[in-house]
Amino acid sequence: MEGYKVCVLAVVWVLIFSPVAHSWGVDGHLTVCRIAQSRLSEAAADAVKKLLPESAEGDLGSECSWADRVKFRYHWSSALHYIDTPDDLCTFQYNRDCKDEDGVMDRFNDLMNNAELVHTDNLTEALLFLSHFMGDIHQPLHVGFTSDRGGNTIDIHWYRTKTVLHHVWDTSMIETFETRSYDSNPDGLIAAIQANITGEWADQVKAWETCGSNVTTCPNRYASEGIKAACDWAYKGVSEDSVLQGK
Ligand SMILES: [Zn+2]
Repeated sequence: MEGYKVCVLAVVWVLIFSPVAHSWGVDGHLTVCRIAQSRLSEAAADAVKKLLPESAEGDLGSECSWADRVKFRYHWSSALHYIDTPDDLCTFQYNRDCKDEDGVMDRFNDLMNNAELVHTDNLTEALLFLSHFMGDIHQPLHVGFTSDRGGNTIDIHWYRTKTVLHHVWDTSMIETFETRSYDSNPDGLIAAIQANITGEWADQVKAWETCGSNVTTCPNRYASEGIKAACDWAYKGVSEDSVLQGK
């Protein structure tokens, strides 16, 4: 499966090497997928349930980090977890940033339309890839600057813990927030976000769900929003050895 370079990098290596039953890094993906599953149409929900492995017990969230665990088995997939954009421009342009044809951007539509195009005839795997990449592309630093590999080379402290900026956005913030506010239970965070979707953010939902005519996903928009959020929030005011913490 060579030639699958694409727009760049991966998530936290520790997730791959330590498949702890419920490591914190998993919770971001779990949260995205549980919320998505709760919003599916009846027909889509039935299809998802049929495709999930028995071990998932009907819970898409429990399998949403599968794509991180198969980067070595499916080598071609490892470059689909991130997109590199030019330093400091804070924009995404498909023609500039996705020079290889088989990038994650193209895969969104492939995954939606034809599983064979993503080199698997296994629809379960196609579902798990799509669910995972939808989470990745919405984590701001998965669409990040090229030279710092989406914040992976920026050493910082999260409170007193030495880590890198990318890891803070993948894992540390979620861990800290869940621990403080929800007794370390992701269900509390999920419920809070769902309450916002039906409340405070309700007037934005229609726009989130609408990509345009005849398209079911809009990865260009997701990526553009991602790098903008990275500049507005993740990179803002951060330099080597910054100390970051919650408010
Ligand atoms: Zn990923």
